[in-house]
Amino acid sequence: MTVQSRVAIITGAGRGIGAETARMFAQAGARVAVVDLDVTSAQRIVSEIREAGGQAQAYGMDVADRGQVEAVFGQVKSDFGRIDILVNNAGIIRDNLIHKMTDDDFDQVVQVHLKGTFLCAQAAQRFMVEQRYGRIVNFSSTSALGNRGQVNYAAAKAGIQGMTKTLAMELGRYGITCNAVAPGFIETDMTRATAARIGIDFEEFKVLAAKEAAVGRIGTPADVAHAVLFFAADESSFITGQVLYVRGGV
Ligand code: NAP
Repeated sequence: MTVQSRVAIITGAGRGIGAETARMFAQAGARVAVVDLDVTSAQRIVSEIREAGGQAQAYGMDVADRGQVEAVFGQVKSDFGRIDILVNNAGIIRDNLIHKMTDDDFDQVVQVHLKGTFLCAQAAQRFMVEQRYGRIVNFSSTSALGNRGQVNYAAAKAGIQGMTKTLAMELGRYGITCNAVAPGFIETDMTRATAARIGIDFEEFKVLAAKEAAVGRIGTPADVAHAVLFFAADESSFITGQVLYVRGGV
């Protein structure tokens, strides 16, 4: 799978799945813009990548802020000369049952996931259309199919599936593909926070989740990063508008 010399912007890459995707892309020869709300965590991943011989640069950016998104995408283009790949990974959760969910819980999740994916895709496509080349990989979730306590997140992740198919239709003629990965239970700070919220020990939570997966284990950030790499590769030019569930089951 080739991403050699491609310039990839990965959002929310300061930890979790985004950080692992940044490491994997750099190892495969991509030049990686490691973007995170917290620039210090992005810098930490960049140092790791450089120490391993890869090429990367850190940027601080809130994906839900148009001004910041446009400034950082412009900066990446001027630093690297092009933007080939966008991975819309940044995300948050603000879980609660419907009767307890506040406007703020709902709005923040929709802003980061849905609006953030829209703003970054819009900023990236300007450069990608000019180049007649691009790969956009969005992040949905198995929660798009419904998940107790996540009416905000489920709606946003289902919306991302509609956005993905629409971008595929609009941008395909310019050599740009747009696909989504939809992870199941992956061991990161996000699932750790869910365990804390529902008051269950994280180790116990992982055992329960593993029992529900057909393959009998929970996922790792690398499991998802491999799927992202597949969609982002040069060779995947005839695959667009697809949602790939990375959940160890059906
Ligand atoms: P994570 O460990 O919580 O990492 C999320 C990253 O996104 C953090 O680095 C965070 O930055 C960053 N971020 C949050 N809001 C941002 C914003 N407004 N602008 C820029 N960056 C922002 O989460 P993860 O588990 O790796 O999740 C990555 C993606 O996979 C998300 O889209 C998530 O919804 C999806 N997903 C995860 C799972 C799972 O089981 N883990 C399952 C399905 C889907 P800070 O460090 O500054 O907070």
